[in-house]
Amino acid sequence: MNLKGITIALLLTTGILGAQSNKNTNHYQEIVEKTDNIYDDLVKIRRDLHMNPEISKQEKRTSKVVAEYLKELGLEVKTNIGGNGVVGILEGGKKGRKIAWRADMDAIQTDEPDVVSFTSKNKGVRHICGHDVHTTIGLGIANVLSQQKEDLEGTIYFIFQPAEETFTGAKDMIADGLFDIIKPDEVYGLHIGPEASGIINVKANALFAHTKTLKVEFKPNTDEKELENFMNSILKGFVRNIEQKGSPWDIINKISDSKIGLTNQETIFKDYFILQGAGLITDSDKTVTFYNASFLETDIQRVNNIPFEIKKQILNSKFKDSFISIGYSKDYSGTPINDDELTKIASQTIASFYNKEMFKPLYGQVPYFGEDFIFYQQKVPGVFFFLGGSNIEKGIMSMPHTPNFAVDETTIKYGVQSFATLIYERANNK
Ligand SMILES: [Zn+2]
Repeated sequence: MNLKGITIALLLTTGILGAQSNKNTNHYQEIVEKTDNIYDDLVKIRRDLHMNPEISKQEKRTSKVVAEYLKELGLEVKTNIGGNGVVGILEGGKKGRKIAWRADMDAIQTDEPDVVSFTSKNKGVRHICGHDVHTTIGLGIANVLSQQKEDLEGTIYFIFQPAEETFTGAKDMIADGLFDIIKPDEVYGLHIGPEASGIINVKANALFAHTKTLKVEFKPNTDEKELENFMNSILKGFVRNIEQKGSPWDIINKISDSKIGLTNQETIFKDYFILQGAGLITDSDKTVTFYNASFLETDIQRVNNIPFEIKKQILNSKFKDSFISIGYSKDYSGTPINDDELTKIASQTIASFYNKEMFKPLYGQVPYFGEDFIFYQQKVPGVFFFLGGSNIEKGIMSMPHTPNFAVDETTIKYGVQSFATLIYERANNK
């Protein structure tokens, strides 16, 4: 999950973790036990990855750790896919469906000091987006499922992706022939989120708001201030339901609020347009004037219409003769689009064995973040989840990209247990 240039401390509130409930599938119990057995080792792996973080496109050591672990489990392993990407293939004992699980591996540059005892050994680099935990959960799932290989009907593909933070890793792996190597029917993945440890969130269709940068080109205009004011007033006209007044974090911090946050049906994040920034730039030789505006919009239909609506207003104004073009910049962001049907099925499957209080659907779209998981979903239907990692009593807050980001490691257990079960169920599903 990536975020453009925003790092600031924050306060957040999360729900209180519910008690464990009875599970109703035998298979889940088996996976729970197997996960318990490897939990201590998984924590060690996570801490090792945390102490040796690597930024996007430099995940050499991490991918080596991953490849060796998968080989030891007996998986077929492919390395150096789209850079440092690794793929592990687990063939079940019987024929069945093919399910892919994706985990990202890269860390982030930050000079903020680490908040855990197992601090990063790479100066200026830290896992403040939880990809060390994602990688560990991916390895844990591979481990428990490989232990039930004989019963497993189908094939499981584990995609360990580099360079998510630069929004390039998924694209690079696909361009390097990922889908020639693997042929999944479905793809799944998760990101650590700010809810309490073990809480799983999901939503059908767009999980995040669409982040867009609009570029309008004009001939150099004599009255640039007037043009800028005119364009600003058009853009402000699109603002709907949420207004960014100060830092984006003033808004982001509300996503976990029990009344207006994403898990409440009355959430303010259901339908909005947030104007992030806008302004005029004239190139140095004064041949073109650009008006740039970046915004978040929940509705894709509106995203598609906005350039046309703006163009119409410009052409009806005194600036019509200086107008050259309008369009979106190449995006450095995107939202996972969760398959409607698979989200329903996955939700029912998880709810059938997981504690109901720990499975919370989302009713709104996350603002300000992007996730390149969408590139897999453009090829194969799939679902992207959030897995909570906070623990208020322990002072652990897992809001990605914040200086005090930390993860309650118990969530590794929840992640492996739930998603290994989901993958098993989906593979064995006829
Ligand atoms: Zn991330």
